[in-house]
Amino acid sequence: MNILVINAGSSSLKYQLIRMEDETILCKGVCERIGIDGKYSYKTADGYKVEKSADLFTHKDAFDVILHEMVGGEGRVIHSVGEIAAVGHRVTHGGDKFSHSVLIDEATIEAINAMRSISPLHNPPQAATIRACRSVFGEKLPMVAVFDTAFHATMPPKAYTFAIPYKYYEQYGVRRYGFHGTSHRYVSGRIGELMGGQPHRLITCHLGNGSSLAAIRDGRVVDTSMGFTPLDGLMMGTRCGSIDPSIVSYIANLENLHESEMSHLLNGESGLLGVSGVSSDFRDVLEAAENGNKRAQLAADMLEYQIVKLIGSYAAALGGVDAILFTGGIGENAVDLREQVIRDLAYLGVTPDSEANRSRGEEVRISGPDSKVQVWVVPTNEEIMIARDTASFVQ
Ligand code: ADP
Repeated sequence: MNILVINAGSSSLKYQLIRMEDETILCKGVCERIGIDGKYSYKTADGYKVEKSADLFTHKDAFDVILHEMVGGEGRVIHSVGEIAAVGHRVTHGGDKFSHSVLIDEATIEAINAMRSISPLHNPPQAATIRACRSVFGEKLPMVAVFDTAFHATMPPKAYTFAIPYKYYEQYGVRRYGFHGTSHRYVSGRIGELMGGQPHRLITCHLGNGSSLAAIRDGRVVDTSMGFTPLDGLMMGTRCGSIDPSIVSYIANLENLHESEMSHLLNGESGLLGVSGVSSDFRDVLEAAENGNKRAQLAADMLEYQIVKLIGSYAAALGGVDAILFTGGIGENAVDLREQVIRDLAYLGVTPDSEANRSRGEEVRISGPDSKVQVWVVPTNEEIMIARDTASFVQ
């Protein structure tokens, strides 16, 4: 059975066709600059590769191109649409409504679109993408929505309620939702397999361009660092993470900033980029710090400090911790950062295995044999999680 996985942004669309029997990626690629000038890439498991400019005026054009490459192109991997059993769509926000993946019907698309007030940048284009997908692949092909927020739906009210007038939760749904749920779910399941049993108290650290931590008890999230939007929690590539909310009106007044300008400042000009002044990319920040750039060093130190602080607070929330894991581009690759975090957690009885910690992008235990808490690196795989959820609806 083949499952097509779609991860759509406002101007991009990543896709993978996965054969579920052995979870092989038959082909994958990305359509970019949709609605601008359009280009796409397509590569297959057999090594066929293409990168082209194309007129991608809409997401429908992008689906036409993908379908053509998969079925009719030189590097085709299937003979007809009939060989695709279902499509799984990543959807950013499921609000209070979706705590699990769902089979998509018209009402689901409308509900995803209706969450535009709490997810204006992501949900409307994703709803439109689902419609475009249906128009190209046909009404009969089952489609499943997999929500970034769903895994966090088990948080208790004391973790998800903000201390502002309660009516804003009741009227507008202002609460902590959490994001990256599909990643946290995948890695927390995988570490259970690697450890030979689900750890009772687990902290998952997804560190990438966007970063979030989750505190997980017996496989269920009890707290997570992203909030009402993915701006909250840790500092990120360009996002500020948690700051004193008064700063927002203070700077907006001084600089006469409109709401959208302020939002751009916090989402697009802050984080590693804002502090270092060098880059949002952690590799660039580390390189600049090594070359003596003090602000780059400060940004790297701040990130490490915030991770350690948050792990400490989640250890408190869980009443102790049995395992900690790192994932995401930074979590899987930033060896020195991981080593420092482990050293700063010595008070929890954590010790490093510095040799094992040198590896990048691999599943590996990086805590020493005498460590009271197991620490692991588990590369994330959101696509396979989406594909498995989708397959479960058609099986
Ligand atoms: P996204 O959140 O967009 O999926 P990724 O999970 O791919 O992003 O993470 C991207 C981040 O990972 C970037 O900040 C990048 O610098 C960082 N990264 C990748 N490789 C390394 C490395 N070897 N050392 C440190 N950071 C790295």
